Amino acid sequence: MNEKFERTNHCGDLRLADVGKSVIVIGWVQKRRNLGSLVFIDLRDRWGIVQVVVKPEDVELPDIRNEYIIQVFGKISKKDVPNKNLATGDIEIVADKVVLINTSEQPPIVISDDTDASEDIRLKYRYLDLRRQSMVNRFLTRAKITKCAHDYFSSNDFVNVETPYLSPSTPEGARDYLVPSRLKKGSFYALPQSPQLFKQMLMVAGFDRYYQVARCFRDEDLRADRQPDFTQIDVEMSFMNEDEILAMAEGFLKKVFKEVVDFDVQLPLRHMEYDDAVNFYGSDKPDTRFGMKLVDLKDILDKTEFGAWKDSKFIKAIKIEGIAEETSRKKQDEYNLLANKFGMKFYACFKVENDTLEGSLVKFMNPEQIKNVIQAMDAKNGDVIFVGSGNDKHNVCFGVGALRSMMAKKLNLIKPNTFDLLWVVHFPLFEKSEETGEIVAVHHPFTRPCDEDLSKLRTDPFNVYAYAYDIVINGYEAGGGSLRIYDQKVQQEIFEILGLTPERIQKKFGWFVDALKFGTPPHGGLAFGLDRLTMILSGTDNIRDVIAFPKNLAGVCPVTNAPYPVDEDQLKVLGIDVIKEK
Ligand code: ASP
Repeated sequence: MNEKFERTNHCGDLRLADVGKSVIVIGWVQKRRNLGSLVFIDLRDRWGIVQVVVKPEDVELPDIRNEYIIQVFGKISKKDVPNKNLATGDIEIVADKVVLINTSEQPPIVISDDTDASEDIRLKYRYLDLRRQSMVNRFLTRAKITKCAHDYFSSNDFVNVETPYLSPSTPEGARDYLVPSRLKKGSFYALPQSPQLFKQMLMVAGFDRYYQVARCFRDEDLRADRQPDFTQIDVEMSFMNEDEILAMAEGFLKKVFKEVVDFDVQLPLRHMEYDDAVNFYGSDKPDTRFGMKLVDLKDILDKTEFGAWKDSKFIKAIKIEGIAEETSRKKQDEYNLLANKFGMKFYACFKVENDTLEGSLVKFMNPEQIKNVIQAMDAKNGDVIFVGSGNDKHNVCFGVGALRSMMAKKLNLIKPNTFDLLWVVHFPLFEKSEETGEIVAVHHPFTRPCDEDLSKLRTDPFNVYAYAYDIVINGYEAGGGSLRIYDQKVQQEIFEILGLTPERIQKKFGWFVDALKFGTPPHGGLAFGLDRLTMILSGTDNIRDVIAFPKNLAGVCPVTNAPYPVDEDQLKVLGIDVIKEK
């Protein structure tokens, strides 16, 4: 068969300027209204919807239903009453021939932007969900960002190189997805958590500037902004210092924001020290579109008679303006559930009323302390102060920071339609593993420590900072990276501090450490999260909205139902025995 599906235009492209033209369009029937002497059809393609008018008296109309595909031959006519809801709403196509191209079953979801279908159903029938214009737009945004990446990095002399999917484990700190080897039974590849070590080897190879739109795989618990397979715009460059690398990255962001949403990003972006982000925003990805900064009340409150404060190493507070009246006991209990997640029993809550503090803990404070708190918080009558305290800095700061974010969302304090970009810089090099209590690398063991902290590597490792940076946009970590170690002595020292014996190093990434011995250039880079960038630029906070076929929160692909149990034969070939769950 050599059918020709002729089209002169896309449905969504037709405008007033086309009035009088003869056109041929093909699309899916979105809606059909039969008024007897006239039949109106909303016809949809990827570009939009156009109204078609058929006079059954003059034109033979096949039996058509929603989601049938038809080809319409007709003439563009100006509508007497424009439809403001459609981009094509000034015109309609008066049909003189309608050809049925294919039929469809009754779709299980309403294909329209105001569909009331649950996300589960939408994900199951994703190919239908993706027909909705709001979904199409997100993928157009995504594709534009990818195109910007290709344009920007290739025009800056970066080489686009693909790195393997079947690879050894990469050190990003998550659990690996493993792929069994048939040829080497009992051995496994790991799907890459990122191209980190390969891109560094490309620097050793002298490629100088590399980029890749790379799929990455991390077996972590899923969240609204996390998927097991996701995409990074991954870059690495040689002979550039931190400022130069960040400037290169900023150039990309400027281009993306301009081309995709016509927003002018002012460069250079501001830098916030990691410690300031934690102390003032209670987050390593601070949303700075609103204030409500954390205030340190330790000096004031540990002198009160309240035992928990006296025993706390860290006491942080936020003030929320004008919510005293609506802050009931019940609401406080609700907020405390969040405190519990951060290892705190509660957020102490004070209302400012009659120029003093009200609340169950005020009885432990003298008038001077009350005055000092009001002053430190710059609080007025009607405001509410929430206080978190404890001995773990991370828990206290992040716990109060989480309340800050939650309240800002609840109270609509976030300026809409604005983008706030900043770098969070100088992350700590090491942290204590929550699981084992052992010292581990915050990013990966190849992250370069700040020169001024080198002397503290052994004596005070938790106060060593790294040339590591994250790009934070509207409270999302939209990317991150670091300078890498190229001095073998420093690398060796880091391994030793991390308790990596030569045998373990050899086993884990000996091949990579060997590569670094052959004239490694000073280098560094970063990776942008394509999914998160798309979320931010298309105004959704659900990562599944910007991935064509995402997994649900149980890690299952709702369209295909993967993962599946496999046949015994397949397992046998791989030398695998599956332990059945009881
Ligand atoms: N590989 C890092 C990551 O995935 C990014 C980088 O350091 O370039 O977070």
